[in-house]
Amino acid sequence: MAQEQVRIFDTTLRDGEQAPGFSLRPAEKIQLARQLDALGVDVIEAGYPIASSAEADAVRRIATEIRRPIIACLARCHPADLERAAWAIEPAAQGRIHTFIATSDLHLQAKLRISREQCLEAAVDGVRFARRHTSDVQFSAEDATRSDIDFLCRVVEAVIKAGATTINLPDTVGYSTPDETLEFFTLIRTRVPNADKVVFSTHCHDDLGLAVANSLAAVQGGARQVECTINGIGERAGNAALEEVVMAFNVRPDRIPYSTSVVTKLLYPSSEMLTKLTGQPVQVNKAIVGRNAFAHEAGIHQDGVLKDRRTYEIMSAADVGAPWNPLVLGKHSGRHAVQKRCAALGFAFEGDELIGIYRALMVIADDRKTIEDADIIKVVRSMRPELVAVGEAADAAEVPAHPVAAMHESGYGHGV
Ligand code: MN
Repeated sequence: MAQEQVRIFDTTLRDGEQAPGFSLRPAEKIQLARQLDALGVDVIEAGYPIASSAEADAVRRIATEIRRPIIACLARCHPADLERAAWAIEPAAQGRIHTFIATSDLHLQAKLRISREQCLEAAVDGVRFARRHTSDVQFSAEDATRSDIDFLCRVVEAVIKAGATTINLPDTVGYSTPDETLEFFTLIRTRVPNADKVVFSTHCHDDLGLAVANSLAAVQGGARQVECTINGIGERAGNAALEEVVMAFNVRPDRIPYSTSVVTKLLYPSSEMLTKLTGQPVQVNKAIVGRNAFAHEAGIHQDGVLKDRRTYEIMSAADVGAPWNPLVLGKHSGRHAVQKRCAALGFAFEGDELIGIYRALMVIADDRKTIEDADIIKVVRSMRPELVAVGEAADAAEVPAHPVAAMHESGYGHGV
């Protein structure tokens, strides 16, 4: 059976960039937009043009230069916002205006201080205004998951009538649970007239660590667009991580049979680019793109993955363009791994000699997080001063500081 396609709407350059510590210069936004294009996302949300004239210029430049994906930008349901947004996407091959207004009573009363009727009117006016500039209009009901369901259905029905082509129902504050999300999308799509004429979209936040789970549930409830960001960056705890959503579909077609147009081999390089541009590292145990996502230190695991990678990995590092590190050495590693790492450095040890080196390294490991190539070379040299490591000058060993980099350079990177 052919898999249904789910559109990937990347909002790294908008929701991601508006998080504290993640702001990007215009040139950096354009560099990332090029990468997102190569990555194969369907929609790039390039920014929020009303925020500043530099932001509007950056969106317009992206709309000018990046031709394949749809270029979207955000605007409140205000004429000034919408006009700026329309100007920013005007050069695009395919431009989308993404307009939004909050629909929960909490936001209406506490933040916007307007009635439900005023909200409905603003939403309809905003969509109509946007439609005069582009035929591709997305409407978001901010805080949809905490909105009164009857009122939300009225708003969605009205904006579809006004010309919205994509309806996004964001879990703005990361409050939903997966089963609730599935019911929510199913219910709205069932109740709203002409729901089948538009694409429903999900936009989940990770305040409870449920953003990806909720996004997948939304797809099961009929959403066909997922809004997400590289490395899961975004407001507060962040958005659904693009790489996790994409690989969930990829690894589990038996349970979630949907495909995306993302080139998975570019997931890790894209993550790395974002990390470099923002200076914000991802946590080491982050799914798919963390430094430890394909690293193994424990002896039993190392033995397993060396015999058959599938024993402890459900996807291969090569599939996502990440380095594979099956031989990180630490106090949990076994002799077999030490032998292999030595071999990569050009040292062939076995028997008592190997045991001696292994024991010396384990003494170091008791005291440290990981053992690096420099440690191995030092230990080997103390026992066999005449030996020289691969690629090492006989006098001074220039060893990469980072164990992963060291693995990489010693031939244990991709495809080993
Ligand atoms: Mn958001």
